[in-house]
Amino acid sequence: MHTYSSIIPTTMTGLQCEPAHKYHPQFDSGDVVLCSSEGTRYRIPSHILKITCGLFRNTLCTTNPALEVQEVNEKDNVLERVLRLICGLETPRWKSFDELEESLELAEKWDAPGPISVIRSAITAPIFLEEPLRLYSIATRVGWEEETKIASTHSLALDLCGEEHQAQLERLASKHLMALFKLHRRRRDKFKHSLDNDPIYNHGNCPQTPCTGCGEKLDNHRWKEFKARAFVEMDQRPLGDTLISLDIAEWPETIACWAAKCSNKGCEKPNYDPATTLRAIELSIRELPITI
Ligand SMILES: [Zn+2]
Repeated sequence: MHTYSSIIPTTMTGLQCEPAHKYHPQFDSGDVVLCSSEGTRYRIPSHILKITCGLFRNTLCTTNPALEVQEVNEKDNVLERVLRLICGLETPRWKSFDELEESLELAEKWDAPGPISVIRSAITAPIFLEEPLRLYSIATRVGWEEETKIASTHSLALDLCGEEHQAQLERLASKHLMALFKLHRRRRDKFKHSLDNDPIYNHGNCPQTPCTGCGEKLDNHRWKEFKARAFVEMDQRPLGDTLISLDIAEWPETIACWAAKCSNKGCEKPNYDPATTLRAIELSIRELPITI
């Protein structure tokens, strides 16, 4: 965790930094020198820092004519990016989530609303949506509501109980963690409720369903097995995309369900209509809530 104390003003004797240190070619003029943790120095006019960053407005010396040197405990890619954002210079494409998160932390530390707003508009780019829990964690911490909702939607492809997600989930405040779990559970339970209660599935759900061909009572245990599998699927992947993809046709429970027939020899009418059933499932899934 970075704190304001990670910015340590060195003595104000001007060029106390050793001359062996390199200066960044694009930041070569100004009365303040910022040194990265990798030893690169960035010269920048103090008035730019004061206009753009609350921290420097209050801390930079305004009267000392000597070169002011500050060590910044940040790597070059982070410090350079935030300085570029402050100065309105072109910035490279984001390479990683680490880079974005560290840049955001530095911008927050400096109280720099300009860079923060640029980072906010970048945070829902595809590269970051690939890690929805990390996005959710940042968005909830900073209080970005829209980005929090987007992250919650993208989390639906994940099983929150998976070991691999525990570290990210542990970063969350408990109310945000609960909100996410509730969304996942709500989708699963609403879907189950629809499979158990929607009239379109009456044929499978009613205990006394007669065969529409001969009136013989149907054995619906295949439908129950199919529903159990669908429930597990929604539990582990509440997005439900596997239930509306071709994957579902390959489940043993689906194959058995579609193969179930009336036991009356001479009738043998299929118990269920796959096309109607799958269409109804798709409709049910599309009606589920998609954000916290
Ligand atoms: Zn029959």
